[in-house]
Amino acid sequence: MDLKNYTPETRITFDNRKTTIFKQDDAWYALAAIPLKAKPGTYDFKIQQDGSTRVSGVEVRDKKYQEQHMTIKNKRKVNPNEQDMQRITSERVLKRAAKNHWSDSYPDVDLIWPVSGEISSIYGLRRFFNEQERNPHNGLDIAAPEGTDIKAPADGTVIEAGDFFFSGNMVYVDHGQGLISLYAHMSRIDVKPGDELRRGDNLGAVGQTGRVTGAHLHFAVMTNGILFDPLYLLP
Ligand code: ZN
Repeated sequence: MDLKNYTPETRITFDNRKTTIFKQDDAWYALAAIPLKAKPGTYDFKIQQDGSTRVSGVEVRDKKYQEQHMTIKNKRKVNPNEQDMQRITSERVLKRAAKNHWSDSYPDVDLIWPVSGEISSIYGLRRFFNEQERNPHNGLDIAAPEGTDIKAPADGTVIEAGDFFFSGNMVYVDHGQGLISLYAHMSRIDVKPGDELRRGDNLGAVGQTGRVTGAHLHFAVMTNGILFDPLYLLP
């Protein structure tokens, strides 16, 4: 939604969470997302400014997403053993911290493609691995040969980089105001936490690490912890 008379003191929430504020063509906007598991209903933007509160509702309707069935050869990636579960649990803490990272700088939301290639899986698909339903697909899969360079789609700071059980080699980049991007299944990571990136800088390379059926980049974006379809920000 667009914001008139925005100042850094203006407080804007959606469904009681912070929003990502950005500027485009001299106007300010608030970006918010709705989780795939959200229930239909009305969700409110609240704008608190100069002692008054404006409320603007958004109606969320039900949507059925297509199913995708995949066969994973490494069965432990679908049914992890006890040792794997311990690893998954500790990784969840790192992932949650990265997802909810906050910095005040305003992001440029006009992303460039991190790799060029065909989209092999869209956002939102209901996913079945070896016929067992798992979390829906909350990013975009871009097919590209192993070793293809991955570019930062906008300026940002690396906040997490490492090897994860399901995601393989993964990098999180903070773009400001709760806008975070992530890159999974990489063959190689060329950055480390704290690295400052300019749009187009190299992050590493496309691979097939983690739970995959072939080489591709899993690219995801989130605003204040809520993943949404990266196509909204891509040209
Ligand atoms: Zn994916």
